[in-house]
Amino acid sequence: MIELRNIVKRFGETTVLNDINVAIAEGTVTALVGPSGGGKSTLLRCINLLEIPTSGTLLLGGESLTFRPGHRPGWPAIQAIRRQTGMVFQNFQLFPHRTAIENVMEGPLTVLNWPKDKARQRAGELLEKVGLSQKADAWPSTLSGGQQQRVAIARALAMSPRVLLCDEPTSALDPELALEVVDVLSRLADEGTTMVIATHDLRLASRIARNVVFLEGGLVVETGPSQQIFTNPAQERTKRFVSSIT
Ligand code: ADP
Ligand code: MG
Repeated sequence: MIELRNIVKRFGETTVLNDINVAIAEGTVTALVGPSGGGKSTLLRCINLLEIPTSGTLLLGGESLTFRPGHRPGWPAIQAIRRQTGMVFQNFQLFPHRTAIENVMEGPLTVLNWPKDKARQRAGELLEKVGLSQKADAWPSTLSGGQQQRVAIARALAMSPRVLLCDEPTSALDPELALEVVDVLSRLADEGTTMVIATHDLRLASRIARNVVFLEGGLVVETGPSQQIFTNPAQERTKRFVSSIT
């Protein structure tokens, strides 16, 4: 459902993604792992076009876009791709002056022009899905980090994206709060939500990802089923990384 073909991303002279080829099937969870600075966040941002790749082709849910250096695709083409994605950030990024449920309603109200009742009902269902019905009217600042992240997940799902992109979703959280976020993501995975998760938390990756892409220095060092990457990686580099953390 998602395919990156020969994706290159340069910032000035620096090549941050160097000829990335990755295919992601519908209903699967893919973890992007690897050392800091390897290009995980940039790769996620190239999927929802928060960053425009320098060259290569991105296919997402039937849309296809080819990039050329110095050429920015038009806004409709960017929107056609971005509309199909939902993004969850390390630091939640909730709207501070909106309650939990208002955060979840925001996209459907402003982007999809849903009537308020419909948006509120859908947001209520999503808060229930992430176990936060009782916090619907709470302000973000009164919620724990884990609760804020679960609201952020509900907000991303409110736009019914074809793929949920998560950038280090548990990295800002204490282990206990990280666990409640992992539980929610794990449940979504079981329901067949297509997800791409950038994380250096290999426990998160091994628990919910079917496939793993190991990125270092802007290159895909190794890719394969998570079971294989975590227990019997082919590349020496992957082996060292996995054993340094587990
Ligand atoms: P990761 O998420 O794996 O830690 P990133 O994608 O954040 O890696 O970063 C990969 C490399 O790209 C790093 O060397 C980083 O400094 C560089 N980089 C990321 N964003 C920018 C930017 N906007 N301008 C210049 N360099 C960037
Ligand atoms: Mg990152």
